[in-house]
Amino acid sequence: MTKPDFIAAEFADDYDPDSLPVDRARHFIRSHLTPVTETETLPLLDAMSRVLAKTIISPCNVPNRDNSAMDGFALNWQALPAEGVATLKVIGTALAGKPYEGFVGPGECVRIMTGAVMPDGCDTVVMQEHAEVHGNEMSCGPGIKLGQNRRLAGEDLQCGQAVLQAGHWLRPADLGLIASLGIGRIEVYRKLRVAFFSTGDELASIGTTLRPGEIYDSNRYTIYGMLTRLGVEIIDMGVVRDDPALLEETLLQASRSADVILSSGGVSVGEADYMKALLNKLGQVVFWKIAMKPGRPLAYGKIGTANYFGLPGNPVSVMVTFYQFVRHAMLILMGKPDPAEPPLLSVTCTEPIRKVSGRTEFQRGILSLNDGKWTVRPTGNQGSGILRSMSEANCFIVLPATCGNTEPGSIVQVQVMDGII
Ligand code: AMP
Ligand code: MG
Repeated sequence: MTKPDFIAAEFADDYDPDSLPVDRARHFIRSHLTPVTETETLPLLDAMSRVLAKTIISPCNVPNRDNSAMDGFALNWQALPAEGVATLKVIGTALAGKPYEGFVGPGECVRIMTGAVMPDGCDTVVMQEHAEVHGNEMSCGPGIKLGQNRRLAGEDLQCGQAVLQAGHWLRPADLGLIASLGIGRIEVYRKLRVAFFSTGDELASIGTTLRPGEIYDSNRYTIYGMLTRLGVEIIDMGVVRDDPALLEETLLQASRSADVILSSGGVSVGEADYMKALLNKLGQVVFWKIAMKPGRPLAYGKIGTANYFGLPGNPVSVMVTFYQFVRHAMLILMGKPDPAEPPLLSVTCTEPIRKVSGRTEFQRGILSLNDGKWTVRPTGNQGSGILRSMSEANCFIVLPATCGNTEPGSIVQVQVMDGII
């Protein structure tokens, strides 16, 4: 295969499109990504899964005053007797949102609830379980420590502190954190626009009766689901027949409206795979056989300014290539400069795994708790057309290129599919 012009010099030496290691492909894609720059200002509640365009600086201390971490009694620690039980007069009550206005002197204390501002003269809270009350007197101690059960002003966030950096992908805790600063509108990058379509003469849409040789298009549904999780703008371009004119029209239309174009099918060397010829005509696209399973054929390049990913047709390959290449690239394009790779955890595999060395495998696995220990087993048939394996799995078993068959009891690395947040 000839090398397309846009392969950078750093890749030119050992560029082998017929067996490209996963890392090399990732690195190559990464070097061609230009993140979105346009921003918009949104109400906080609309900003979930967006990427911050400006660092959030705290305009105040959180909490803004010292307050109580417990229900109990607020007092001045210095004024307690050095030894023995202290008996203090209860002179008032401080509630969250209703401070005690007076000064608390020696020999006095105030009944205080969690979140209430520490009254003047107090630095310590005795929790109510450690206090005894008789009439308007409270007895406590010994052993009370200075400052116990007191939350300090600014202990969560300090005024002027950079709370969240530009480029941060917003999660539920972040929305709460920003709200805790009293900030209601924030500047984020605009949504990434992602157009996608399925290719194949054999594909039928839901609602039609299958004719011999037809299958229902499932890739558009998995892709739709994966894109929804990323919080991008989704442009569903439907099913496109293996017809060069239709494919060309679809790609051109997509390149005019989208930042990213995803197609599935038509990138292997089958007879109906027009994509290659077409993409050489329309843009700068490289076709790879990645040294991985599933997901061997993959195309990446540019059509106009849009990034194009030609994913394989097999339903499992689509999902694996999306998670291993597209998701990471998409986060960078959304404005998150350095997305963390999902963590790899070491777990004992209870069953043998068959694998040839020389390529990275992403087998589908089920992590489960047995006798207090997490173990993993493959889902069974690992064919790239067995979509059930993805549905049953809760992790990828990531087997590096160097690894061959493994015995039961071996330690393998897994990538958990679902985050809880
Ligand atoms: P291709 O890469 O186009 O040769 O497709 C590889 C395999 O994936 C074939 O068995 C196709 O029928 C199947 N396939 C392609 N696209 C889809 C799709 N959208 N939904 C389900 N299966 C598909
Ligand atoms: Mg096809």
